Amino acid sequence: MNSEKTPLSYTGFDQLPINRVWRHGKSAKVLQDLNPYNGNILAEIPNANQDDVDEAYRGAAEAQRAWAALLPGERAAVIRRAAQVMEMRHEEIVQWLIRETGSTRIKATMEWGTVHAVMLEGSALPYMVEGRILPADVPGKESRVYRKPVGVVGVISPWNWPMQLSARSVVPALAVGNAVVVKPASDTPVTGGLLLAKILEEAGLPPGVFNVVVGAGSEIGDIFVTHPVPRVISFTGSTSVGRNIAKLSAESPTLKRLELELGGNGPFVVLSDANLDDAVEAAVFGKFLHQGQTCMSVNRFIIDDEVHDAFVDRFVERVRKLKFGNPDEPDTMIGPIINESQFKGLCSRIKDAISAGARKVVGEEAQGLVLPPHVFTDVTNNMHVARTESFGPIAPFIRVRGEKEALKVANDTELGLAAAVFTRDVERGLHFAQRLESGMAHINDQPVNDLPYNPFGGEKNSGIGRFNGAWAITAFTTDQWVTIQHEPRKYVFDARQLKGGHGD
Ligand code: NAD
Repeated sequence: MNSEKTPLSYTGFDQLPINRVWRHGKSAKVLQDLNPYNGNILAEIPNANQDDVDEAYRGAAEAQRAWAALLPGERAAVIRRAAQVMEMRHEEIVQWLIRETGSTRIKATMEWGTVHAVMLEGSALPYMVEGRILPADVPGKESRVYRKPVGVVGVISPWNWPMQLSARSVVPALAVGNAVVVKPASDTPVTGGLLLAKILEEAGLPPGVFNVVVGAGSEIGDIFVTHPVPRVISFTGSTSVGRNIAKLSAESPTLKRLELELGGNGPFVVLSDANLDDAVEAAVFGKFLHQGQTCMSVNRFIIDDEVHDAFVDRFVERVRKLKFGNPDEPDTMIGPIINESQFKGLCSRIKDAISAGARKVVGEEAQGLVLPPHVFTDVTNNMHVARTESFGPIAPFIRVRGEKEALKVANDTELGLAAAVFTRDVERGLHFAQRLESGMAHINDQPVNDLPYNPFGGEKNSGIGRFNGAWAITAFTTDQWVTIQHEPRKYVFDARQLKGGHGD
């Protein structure tokens, strides 16, 4: 029997919250939401079509005015309650993450923690939006800057950390007075959007302020970006789709502000003086957490020749002990790949690495969509396996001679999201980290950052934007300059009377 502490599980995930009501999407296509581990159908969701996107955006624009007019404390209270709902429904949420995204229990629990932290931080944001009074060089003039919500924000999220990557934009955008429409990835419609909608609804968010449209990028992606209502599009996903969104935004009838968080090609550098035991533990975690399907996952191991063989031996020994299979077991480190198409891509990447001359040191046969860890040595930085993002449990090792070559190889990529360097000499590490062309660099730790409060973002083709409290305020609000002339102003109509440039 359910007590007050264990509420009934949410139901009705076949419907979408669009313009104040939960209803079926109007597309003829029905999405089958699958558990990637066992193929079970979790939900069947009629997709949203272009009319639904239009209705969601228009409904959001209407609901936004009343939401923005609430007191900051009233908005904060809704978000605080959402954090409480998450606490009450901890296991239900973790279960959804395991079943829908193939997350191991470790990763699902971490993701719950980051979303919860985003909510706690978000509940403080309504109080942090401040205007300014500027000096005015005209007698009797007052010059003010007001900070206002942008209005409606469109959020597009990927399938790998779907709840976190939706929430990190949704929650701050709501907190500062916007309405939001989310388009989650088709592999994760529940954890990327519908579950958040249920939680926010239970927390008391007024209907219409948060909308979810489930549908293929190819069907509703363009209109989602080019629709005249949203002022900001916050996109997390691959660099190629991000580029397309930037193009669409430039061509859309109303220009958009863009927040783009894109792919990575994370180097993990081990210098000759590194503590190898520490480095191996970090390397295994940073490579294989969530099957390597994290934008910040290690993509290339760059190891100094002096320690290369010793490091690889220890790494391989550790990797052979990793448990893979059922993601629901607490000590499973590697669960299923998200879908068949990603899985096939990884299999061809493995074949390609072998034919390019890489040596497979570890790599068992797959079981269903569970791909056991693969380790390759003799990799060079120009091989496909090193040049492009794996997004899977594949660990390529590149041997380098000295710090200079290590840095050159680490930076030899068009992406620049997260990186790591191991050395016993912290000053040396710092000098190295500062020359890494990446938005995030970690000394003596792996790069999959699990700190919810962090300046998170990429350089080069890994994106434009940052994620933390202050960023959220600039990203989802806009400045308006308002001046007041308190006494009649004397204008100058003859240039000979002008001393400076201010009409004085
Ligand atoms: P993806 O780019 O294929 O899809 C991301 C989202 O975009 C999905 O919701 C998808 O439906 C949507 N989409 C696809 N085509 C679209 C279109 N034409 N118009 C509008 N939307 C469209 O990425 P993915 O496979 O879901 O996620 C993996 C990628 O995301 C990796 O490259 C990874 O590095 C990146 N990622 C980056 C970060 C970061 O913060 N930098 C975080 C996680 C993932």
